[in-house]
Amino acid sequence: MITTIKGDITGLDFDIIVNAANNHLLPGAGVCGAIFAKAGKELEKECQKIGYVKTGDAIMTQAYDLPCRKIIHTPGPIYSGSDQDEECLSACYWNSLCLAYDLLIQEKRERLSIAFPCISTGIYGYPHKEACQIAVKTVYQLMNEYPEARKIDVLFVCYLQQDYELYKEELSHYAFRR
Ligand code: ADP
Repeated sequence: MITTIKGDITGLDFDIIVNAANNHLLPGAGVCGAIFAKAGKELEKECQKIGYVKTGDAIMTQAYDLPCRKIIHTPGPIYSGSDQDEECLSACYWNSLCLAYDLLIQEKRERLSIAFPCISTGIYGYPHKEACQIAVKTVYQLMNEYPEARKIDVLFVCYLQQDYELYKEELSHYAFRR
């Protein structure tokens, strides 16, 4: 299932929540700051050990004091207006889903839940509508290419009403290919 809600991602007891991270995995502000604040100091320590993640890549950590089980950290692109923006933003969703799928296999799970924030649309300045279109397109692309990945339930968590409206509209245009 691929759905959207308006809400705060840090309150979800999902298998995985995704962090719109920065390359150095520092707490920062926005959704990232909220995740670090609620997860506690142990998350900072684990992230310090990892040190650096390239834009568009994804890594997984424990979730510590958060109600979810794992966090995937993926640094989105800082919007520049270049062709690479879309590629990098799409890679965030694609690579996060690949890690989620690895976990599903590793834990021999029937289903697994993952929640995404609207990556790059805050401090990193990505236009909301374009970012939403890329996010939804990428998730459907992966699940159409690899139907096994449909065992992953994806929730787009929108902090802003504006994003929630965009995701509802965008999702209404999509369905899985058989
Ligand atoms: P970026 O640096 O990738 O732009 P931001 O955290 O500044 O990351 O913004 C990404 C998105 O996360 C924005 O749409 C913002 O509204 C949203 N956001 C902020 N706090 C939360 C939260 N607690 N839960 C879900 N989304 C959030």
